[in-house]
Amino acid sequence: MCNTKIDKVILENGRATALRTVPMKVLHTKQPRGKIIKARKQIVLSCGTLSTPIVLQRSGIGDPEKLQKVGVKCQVELPGIGLNFQDHYLTYSAYRAKPDTESFNDFIRGDPEVQKTVYGQRNVNGTRPLATNGIEAGVKVRRTKEELRQEYMKDSVLAGTATSRTSLISLSCTTPSSLGRLSLSIDSRYDANSTQILPDHVLMLEGKFFTMFHFLEYSFSRGSTHIVSPDPYEAPDFDAGFMNDERDMAPTVWGYIRSRETARRMDAYAGEVTDKYPFFAYDSLAATQYLNLQDTKAYGGPNHLSIGIQHGSWSIQAKPGKPPKDSFVSSSKVSEVRDDLEYTAENIKQVEEWVKRHVETTWHSLGTCSMSPKEGNSIVKHGVLEPPPQRPRRQRPQMR
Ligand SMILES: Cc1cc2nc3c(=O)[nH]c(=O)nc-3n(C[C@H](O)[C@H](O)[C@H](O)COP(=O)(O)OP(=O)(O)OC[C@H]3O[C@@H](n4cnc5c(N)ncnc54)[C@H](O)[C@@H]3O)c2cc1C
Repeated sequence: MCNTKIDKVILENGRATALRTVPMKVLHTKQPRGKIIKARKQIVLSCGTLSTPIVLQRSGIGDPEKLQKVGVKCQVELPGIGLNFQDHYLTYSAYRAKPDTESFNDFIRGDPEVQKTVYGQRNVNGTRPLATNGIEAGVKVRRTKEELRQEYMKDSVLAGTATSRTSLISLSCTTPSSLGRLSLSIDSRYDANSTQILPDHVLMLEGKFFTMFHFLEYSFSRGSTHIVSPDPYEAPDFDAGFMNDERDMAPTVWGYIRSRETARRMDAYAGEVTDKYPFFAYDSLAATQYLNLQDTKAYGGPNHLSIGIQHGSWSIQAKPGKPPKDSFVSSSKVSEVRDDLEYTAENIKQVEEWVKRHVETTWHSLGTCSMSPKEGNSIVKHGVLEPPPQRPRRQRPQMR
């Protein structure tokens, strides 16, 4: 139904029987404000993570204290409605790519030849790159038991950070959430200002780029959303709760470090877009490295002479990798390998600051009407389901 917004569910004797709707926008003063739509069989509310809980709260389903405060009579006591908001915390880092790398960059810049080819591939054959979502590969990785152990040891690099204050219970926990599974996705997009996926083409630097993005799949942080009045047009009190549990920082920092190591081992890698990185000191072993001389020359072409003079102390040329040993096993063509970078406790703090400034949504919001027991469980404080009825225990036949 167009221009129709659900205000609330109408309950009769504890049973949902109808919906009250209002226009999405009031177009003229004579327009009727409300309509009742009766259900023949049942009502399924699927207004998404952000709207479902506030429709329920307007209907009188939620936390009695909170509902009373905003002038809504509580009809069903379910304090979990609107709690437990979650997302996958995302950070991006951008890399320079070698000139021969296939990328979206010239297409986005509007190069007419590239656009003709790309649209042709899409329209004629239905193939890449417009037939993809731009994400070339994705993996899910977990910290190893050894990495987790080191993280919480007193003298470890990460011990100086907020994570060392995390309770011991979560350390010994071996569920996926305590291991902090992360998705590192390699993609061909270049994130110009850390808030856009595909940047405005005029903001893009010359050259080719790829982006690594990494997000935490099981976060500890939780947000909430609650109505502030019965008015269906009023915005709720929404707290995304981003990174409000410090246990989420260590796996997010680790995700950045691992994805950077992955990028440095890719054949496309030609350096880092240094201003999109944490502020490491120029002489730090974790310092970011800019385009190397060989690739600078390749981008410059035959009519440009470059001897790789860098501007100031904030850019260091990417150092070439080493040729792989004969014993090196890989399923893809690898012409050079690199050792892991080293991060001091100060570097880790710098990555944390960067995470705090740049962490963003993956639009994977969930959890505000969690399908878990009403009284909650070890993961969710309050769910929305009644506890299942206790089945009478079957008597075991007596052994004689
Ligand atoms: C940019 C973006 C990229 C994403 N990428 C991925 C991805 O790659 N993979 C993946 O798995 N997920 C992805 N997601 C997440 C995925 O889209 C959502 O998890 C999913 O759509 C949620 O489905 P839903 O039915 O719960 O809610 P929604 O799809 O949000 O549907 C809710 C509907 O209810 C309507 N509504 C809300 N309030 C009212 C009201 N009061 N009255 C009447 N109607 C109302 C809304 O208009 C909407 O149509 C992405 C999300 C976004 C925004």
